[in-house]
Parts: sequence; structure tokens; C-alpha cells
Amino acid sequence: MSRYIKAIQCKCPKCEKGAIFKDSGNPIFFKMPKMYKSCEACGYVFEREPGFFFGAMYVSYSLAVAELVALLVVVKFILGFGNIVLVISVAILAFLLSTFNFRVSRSLWMYFFERKSI
Ligand SMILES: [Zn+2]
Repeated sequence: MSRYIKAIQCKCPKCEKGAIFKDSGNPIFFKMPKMYKSCEACGYVFEREPGFFFGAMYVSYSLAVAELVALLVVVKFILGFGNIVLVISVAILAFLLSTFNFRVSRSLWMYFFERKSI
């Protein structure tokens, strides 16, 4: 369980101490998160090969679908709003969670390939 938490906190998949990202980015200012090339604590190189993070797009897509289905359930079925409110709230949530999904998907992708899988 702690590996899940470390992955969500974007800690190094090898030592679980060093940070993966220099900053977390901010979607409101269109600022994407910036990664370190390697772990400051243990020297682990995050991008194992060119194109390594292509697979993180699938993780990001899965995260986005899970978040937006949860939003659909809340907005449509619990709060009872219509489709216009649903579309607007989906657009806003997808925009606001974009940098979070970017960071967590890359972190989860690295954890998937390092040591024991989670
Ligand atoms: Zn490390």
C-alpha cells in the first residue's frame, strides 16, 4: 500500500525518497510539470529509454476516465443536473486535473516497471 502512496506522491520508484518532478505545474497558468532527469537521492535515471513515457499516456487516459465517470455519477445521478452542466463540469475537471494526471501517470508507469509491480 505504501508503494501506491509513494507513486501518487511522485517519489523515486527505486529509493522512494527523491522527487521525480521539480515542480508540479499549474494548469491555470498553462505550466506543465518539469521532471528531473535522475533521482537526486540515488541517481536512478527516470527515462529508461527514448519514448519510455509513451505508455504513461494509457495510464493517464485510465485516470481521466475514472475521474470523469466519478464526476458523471455525482453530477448526473446524485445531484441531478442536466447534460449542459455535465459537459461544462467535465471540461473544467479535465482541465484542472491535467497536470495531476500527467505527474501521477508517469510516476505509476515507472513504478510498474521497477522492482515489484503495484
Ligand atoms: Zn531514488
